[in-house]
Amino acid sequence: MVYIEHTKGERYMEKIIEVNHLSKSYGDVWAVKDVSFNVEQGMLFAFLGPNGAGKSTTINSICTFLKPDKGKVLVNGYKLGEQDGKIRDSIGVVFQESVLDRLLTVEENLSLRGSFYNLRGKELKEAVANAAAATEIGNLLKRPYGKLSGGQRRRADIARALLHTPKILFLDEPTTGLDPQTRKNVWDTIKKLQREQGMTVFLTTHYMEEAEEADYCVVVDNGMVAAKGTPFELKEQYAKDKLSLKGKNMEQLKTMLEEKNIVYTKKADLLEIELKNTMDAMAILKEAEPVLDGFTVVKGSMDDVFLGITGKEIRE
Ligand code: ADP
Repeated sequence: MVYIEHTKGERYMEKIIEVNHLSKSYGDVWAVKDVSFNVEQGMLFAFLGPNGAGKSTTINSICTFLKPDKGKVLVNGYKLGEQDGKIRDSIGVVFQESVLDRLLTVEENLSLRGSFYNLRGKELKEAVANAAAATEIGNLLKRPYGKLSGGQRRRADIARALLHTPKILFLDEPTTGLDPQTRKNVWDTIKKLQREQGMTVFLTTHYMEEAEEADYCVVVDNGMVAAKGTPFELKEQYAKDKLSLKGKNMEQLKTMLEEKNIVYTKKADLLEIELKNTMDAMAILKEAEPVLDGFTVVKGSMDDVFLGITGKEIRE
């Protein structure tokens, strides 16, 4: 990981993507409006937002596939619009729809793609082997791509994006449509790339348990940045922990809470209290102990964060 000494002696990681005041319209619709954020090198970065929020437009601009109307973007130190070839050399992109040929074997697919990067002979062989090893598909190289399972295909798609050893890997909903076990396998592969190879991973996802594992999240809504921070920071700000109480005698418990001016909502046979801080549960539990039969503290989740910021469920 690369650190730069800050003038005040603080250390921070090198920015590998800098997006400044990015805007893009389609006719009179502003798909992206004045979006700014940075991605630090080696990070697992989650770019979140409801459908139509502007995620694809932003990513396609950063990846040089779309020309923005305004803004300055630097990728791996290269300026978008001026050094697009260098940017393309620096990034690997895994699209939602695979670009591999179903009739060719995985090895043929990867070799063909590698040749597009002018890799030949021994170099090409090595690139295919390395990409296959990183995604754990070495044993699948001789199989036709079309005969692989969903998770295996996804890993082969990721291998394709790694052939030219990019510094940044873009993944658009890499685990959507996979069953939970397969999703976990693909997710583990992505995490391994980040952890073991120091790859910067920029992804969009509809799974908040994946966003939970990101180092940093940016949430966009209506083409604008609605929030940014680590999952911890976002949860602190947008999702409250909840204390659920079960009373030996519910009426007594209610009376006790009302006397102490503690606001609760009734949820089935439980009373739920929103906590400002997790530790506030202690004082309430002490007060309620004589009339209490049981309790749970439920941590605020990234789903709550998403709902809190956008007013929408992620899978709407
Ligand atoms: P997301 O990836 O978050 O779902 P998009 O970037 O695809 O969002 O879209 C952002 C907005 O731009 C939406 O309102 C969408 O309808 C509009 N949009 C996207 N692509 C086009 C296009 N090619 N022509 C017109 N409008 C578009």
